[in-house]
Amino acid sequence: MHASTHGAIGIAIITASYIITKSEKKTFIIGGILAFASHYILDFIGESPYKTMQEMLFIEVAVYLWSLVLMFILGLKYLKFSVFGFFMANLMDYIDKKMYFSIFLPKEYPFTYYFHSKNQVLFPISYQKTIIAAIVSVILIGACFLILKNSKMRLES
Ligand SMILES: [Zn+2]
Repeated sequence: MHASTHGAIGIAIITASYIITKSEKKTFIIGGILAFASHYILDFIGESPYKTMQEMLFIEVAVYLWSLVLMFILGLKYLKFSVFGFFMANLMDYIDKKMYFSIFLPKEYPFTYYFHSKNQVLFPISYQKTIIAAIVSVILIGACFLILKNSKMRLES
């Protein structure tokens, strides 16, 4: 899947880890490992490519910014959680796609398969469903924000 979808799942895992463990340290360790592992499973779903580079940049940047703005409103701790969750959920691609240089310069930065397998996609999805996945990612991040906001209010009252 695209980075935005991986990232949203990573944020959801980090959110769940924090709600369950109520410990920052455990959230980083357990949530980080689960977010990292989630990448492999989510890559069983094969997204369709974006139509243009502008569309890719717009959607990917917008979803990431959405998570940054919402978590910034909650506070630095939550911002760190979500940046970390997003990062860990995409780490397999950062490594195998060489920080995405493989996509643009495949000769200089060849794609590797340390964390991917060549026939990994079991469920290819259409362009329309790929866009729906981006919208669901936005909603999922919004839901995480609301859940964290509620738990924060409960802890502080
Ligand atoms: Zn991947």
